[in-house]
Amino acid sequence: MFRFLIFCQLFVISTYGYACKFSNVEFDTNFSGGRLAQCQQVSQDTFLLTLSPENTPINDSPWYSFKVIATQPQTVNIVMQVNDGKHRYQPKISRDGKHWQKQSFTLDNRKMRLSLTASSQATWISGQEIISNADYYHWGKNLADHQIVEQKVIGHSVQERPIYSLAATGKGKEWLVVLGRQHPPELTGALAMFPFTETLLGVSPLALRFRQRFNILVVPNLNPDGVYLGNWRHNANGVDLNRDWKNFQQPEPSAVNDYLTTLVADKQKIAMAVDFHSTHKDIFYSMPHDYGVENPQLVNFWLDALQQAIAGEYPDFQVIQKPGNNPNRGVFKQYIADKYQVHAITYEMGDDTDRGFIDKLAVKAANTLMTTMLATPRQD
Ligand SMILES: [Zn+2]
Repeated sequence: MFRFLIFCQLFVISTYGYACKFSNVEFDTNFSGGRLAQCQQVSQDTFLLTLSPENTPINDSPWYSFKVIATQPQTVNIVMQVNDGKHRYQPKISRDGKHWQKQSFTLDNRKMRLSLTASSQATWISGQEIISNADYYHWGKNLADHQIVEQKVIGHSVQERPIYSLAATGKGKEWLVVLGRQHPPELTGALAMFPFTETLLGVSPLALRFRQRFNILVVPNLNPDGVYLGNWRHNANGVDLNRDWKNFQQPEPSAVNDYLTTLVADKQKIAMAVDFHSTHKDIFYSMPHDYGVENPQLVNFWLDALQQAIAGEYPDFQVIQKPGNNPNRGVFKQYIADKYQVHAITYEMGDDTDRGFIDKLAVKAANTLMTTMLATPRQD
């Protein structure tokens, strides 16, 4: 076994830097979101895969996503370890890169083990579902094709990928801002952003009434480089974008800041902002109601309404709000509160929260937010 391992490490080094192709099995990361640091073959059907971040220090969120391809149908046993860290994401499996199921696994001593049947047809293994830059673009384009929003490029990432905005504009001057994907692996937040936004942009009487008064700006994917590279958290410069909303050293938050600055210079008004993320549980990080923002009770009223709205179907679910104030850290919600004196929240979904529930909660969150914002005094 030991000699075999040595042989494979030599083999790995000799293959043009493409470290994950063996004679019988290939681990392919050459797609948007694909990521693995290192692969070693430890026996004919067992492989040790190592995960490493884009740079350090970093929040411990080891992302992985790869396709397994075998020359002949065979069982592939995978042992996955994190360089200097522990696993966060439970593996998902897909045969087409679009439809995902939970993959059974064991975790002991920080090593994740799983087995699958591989063939010449790719099998995807991924920390969460994949939502690529192209997926965001086509989603926005479809909304724009139906004349619900205008899709625009408001800036470019470090690696010159476009940052798209979607804007629904009416006659009013007040804007609700929706932001997504600052942190690439936080897929459950992304999964909430889609139904949340679609509800705001829908044709319900409430949504139509809301858009008569409020404009909506959505920047669904702020970190397209990180999404493409399969980064754990940072942009292509190795910076956490949700710490850059103070000094604006990175092009991605700068693009949004410039856009909002232009809006306000044009006598428009930011009314509220929602930023989608994921963590180990469902939680809404808010600004304290006594922070000095307009409509101080807005978020309290909204989340109380959301609690009531979800209770019928999910009586055990508790809406958790955690107000907090992080001056000088460059967090988006703090920037909105400090610069525009209005509420903003970080909408966090749990990594393992049921996907159907994420959808239902997001629809109710959008509806109750619209009702709550419509009850505030008009600003124009
Ligand atoms: Zn996050």
